[in-house]
Amino acid sequence: GTRTSTDLIRAEGPVLAHNYHPLPVVVARAEGAWVEDVEGRRYLDMLAGYSALNFGHRHPALIEAAHRQLDRLTLTSRAFHNDRLAQFATSLAELTGLDMVLPMNTGAEAVESAIKVARKWAYEVKGVPADRATIVVAADNFHGRTTTIVSFSTDETARAGFGPFTPGFRIVPYNDLAALEEAVDETTAAVLLEPIQGEAGVLIPDDGYLTGVRELTRRTGCLFVADEIQSGLGRTGRTLAVDHENVVPDMLLLGKALGGGIVPVSAVVARRDVLGVLRPGEHGSTFGGNPLAAAVGQAVVELLETGEFQRRADELGVVLRDGLTGLVDKGVVGFRSRGLWAGVDVDPAIGTGREISERLMREGILVKDTHGSTIRLAPPLTVTGEELATALDTLEKVLAQG
Ligand code: PLP
Repeated sequence: GTRTSTDLIRAEGPVLAHNYHPLPVVVARAEGAWVEDVEGRRYLDMLAGYSALNFGHRHPALIEAAHRQLDRLTLTSRAFHNDRLAQFATSLAELTGLDMVLPMNTGAEAVESAIKVARKWAYEVKGVPADRATIVVAADNFHGRTTTIVSFSTDETARAGFGPFTPGFRIVPYNDLAALEEAVDETTAAVLLEPIQGEAGVLIPDDGYLTGVRELTRRTGCLFVADEIQSGLGRTGRTLAVDHENVVPDMLLLGKALGGGIVPVSAVVARRDVLGVLRPGEHGSTFGGNPLAAAVGQAVVELLETGEFQRRADELGVVLRDGLTGLVDKGVVGFRSRGLWAGVDVDPAIGTGREISERLMREGILVKDTHGSTIRLAPPLTVTGEELATALDTLEKVLAQG
């Protein structure tokens, strides 16, 4: 017979690695901002796949682009050219104001690729002695899960048991230009930062910080690498989070929403004098830049070119901020938001982020905790004002239950 949510959750236990602790909801179908579980219960998706679903579930234009491509060509490997990649790279470079694209698949791969490119640039262009390049990163960063990336994480859960680690990283406090200045020296290849720290709880640096990082990296002759895998592609009300300060990084890392919630698509986008250090055979990926990914990525760029999603995130971001402001001292002790993205600190006396998430789930709202008593709100940018109001009302109700 048909298996229930409980059956399916139980069946995962013995066969699926326990590297996640999902909320006990089993999603079977979805459209727009809504998902439905195997029993037919509907939930408003206020997480949007950690911003991989910025355009909602199964956006018609993206589904159509995928279907069209599925009927024609899906994979060539980069051993051959495919007829979709040139246009995707051209329009992504245009959208971001940079020159060149290195297509990859996951966010972590884009980060790894940027680390390799920055090091090579340091040796070949900057003249750093062999194997001496350093990369400066911020405390409480989240850039992915590979061995090199967890080497410079400050989250012990992400690191413990996974050493030995990759050397060559210096960690400074986030949002602290003086500490950054102190850490940068003649060995520095790059400063790698999230313009807004997502997993850390949607931490937004002070106005002027990103401008300061840009100025400092330019003055000291190292690269500014902005990891916009979670913050980019409309989420904050602009195409990129760095756009709020009109800052153009030397390398930009994109992922998540670039694949439209359909396929994994990531990219390093950079100036030609930076990405130009890579030559044939030095880096690659079997799936990176595959025609299906390029077709969906192209359709994503076309959605963003309209400006509609950035505008929605900006306008509805005001609704979100006002709603959360109204919950301060009603169970919310603080929050940070930009566009349709918020980290909400709940009074620990009311519950952990996990407990609040479970209570919201039972009320038909899906969110995810980050750390401690912080929950993160990041609905699809297609969410309506009424849906957002429903989510905020439900949060108020759940918090009032104490
Ligand atoms: N960088 C940032 C800022 C992220 O938020 C994430 C994922 O949450 C990653 C990198 C890693 O992306 P992926 O999970 O696709 O490897």
